[in-house]
Amino acid sequence: MADNKLYEVLGVTRNASENDLKKAYRKLAKEFHPDKNPQAGDKFKEISFAYEVLSDAEKRQTYDRYGLKGLQEGMDGGDGHDIFNRFFGGFFGGGMGGMGGMGGRGRQQAEDKILQQVVTLEDLYNGGKEIPLEFKRVVLCTKCEGKGGKAGAAKRCHTCQGSGTKVTLQQVHVGIVRQIHSKCPDCKGKGEAYSERDICGDCRGHGTKEEMKVLQVHIDKGMQNMQKIMYREEGNQTPDCDKGNVIVVLACKQHETFQRNGNNLVVRHNINLTEALCGFQLPIKHLDGRNLLVKCPPGNVIQTDTVKAIVGEGMPIYKNPFEKGDLFVEFTITFPPNNFATPEQMKMLEQLLPPRPPIPVPESDDVEEVDLHSYDPNTSRSSNRGAAYDSDDEQGHNVHEVQCPAQ
Ligand SMILES: [Zn+2]
Ligand SMILES: [Zn+2]
Repeated sequence: MADNKLYEVLGVTRNASENDLKKAYRKLAKEFHPDKNPQAGDKFKEISFAYEVLSDAEKRQTYDRYGLKGLQEGMDGGDGHDIFNRFFGGFFGGGMGGMGGMGGRGRQQAEDKILQQVVTLEDLYNGGKEIPLEFKRVVLCTKCEGKGGKAGAAKRCHTCQGSGTKVTLQQVHVGIVRQIHSKCPDCKGKGEAYSERDICGDCRGHGTKEEMKVLQVHIDKGMQNMQKIMYREEGNQTPDCDKGNVIVVLACKQHETFQRNGNNLVVRHNINLTEALCGFQLPIKHLDGRNLLVKCPPGNVIQTDTVKAIVGEGMPIYKNPFEKGDLFVEFTITFPPNNFATPEQMKMLEQLLPPRPPIPVPESDDVEEVDLHSYDPNTSRSSNRGAAYDSDDEQGHNVHEVQCPAQ
């Protein structure tokens, strides 16, 4: 049951020396430091945590022997708490510190409320937008301050005699009875209840009410898809608990033109063969409305899958928006259709293009000339002759044309 995660995070083997660890840590910490690499998310925390454990001989020994679980037991409530959730696959571990659940400081905190806010790539590029996000939350009744009735009027619950627990007996076997403890239904476990006339009229004794709340979600330049924004204590309220937080998760819509890749943007552009060989112009309307014009001079040959970069025209970097990533243009090329030129024109074209490479053909009587047929794997019928390849596709007329000279 060897747990290797911490070694993997640092990219070292289990028998790495102290020096190896230090070197690996320094290199990664530099690379993933939030100032330099803000989109790396919790990576930096993971690296620091892994190093913290493995550089401590005692912790490393515990980890080697018992894995993360062993460490967790030994570090209960320590700083490692939220990073553990991350390593154990918790979605909202790390990064925000002390979210939800027990704050570790006595009072329990109401559960986090997780909301999604859809944004466009333009929103994330331009920043500065405030998006009102309306949601329903439970708050303490203001009239009774969550108590459910008139202050000081609560009386000991008759049903449970103030214990808050209802005990029922259940017969398991003949002569064997089991006690079942459950929350008292009359006082809801509080041990005290209000008489009919003292019950709070506003919340009917619940102590809480539902209300609609609007949060202004502020979008900063360079924010990421799936980025979490925390609004402390804006979530649900439960009597005797700290107010819950709201976590807004940004969901970026797909853009028609641009694809985002970290801080870079990618545009896919198809050109034809003439453009690929003789130059072209490509206007790009950027996410802030500017019109960029890409000019490729004649003679600057673009090949299929060529990627060109426009430096500094990518996404602004979060919290450092004067710096930007790059804009990449990925090219695909459409070749002209069959018979786009006359045989005479083809000869002229051949004179312009680089010469054919010499291909030796065996000079022998038993050279067998064969035809090339069109092939489309999608329309392939493998039942036909049991072959994986099949020449009979939608470009049937081509087959005919190719065959003509042979007849
Ligand atoms: Zn009330
Ligand atoms: Zn009761």
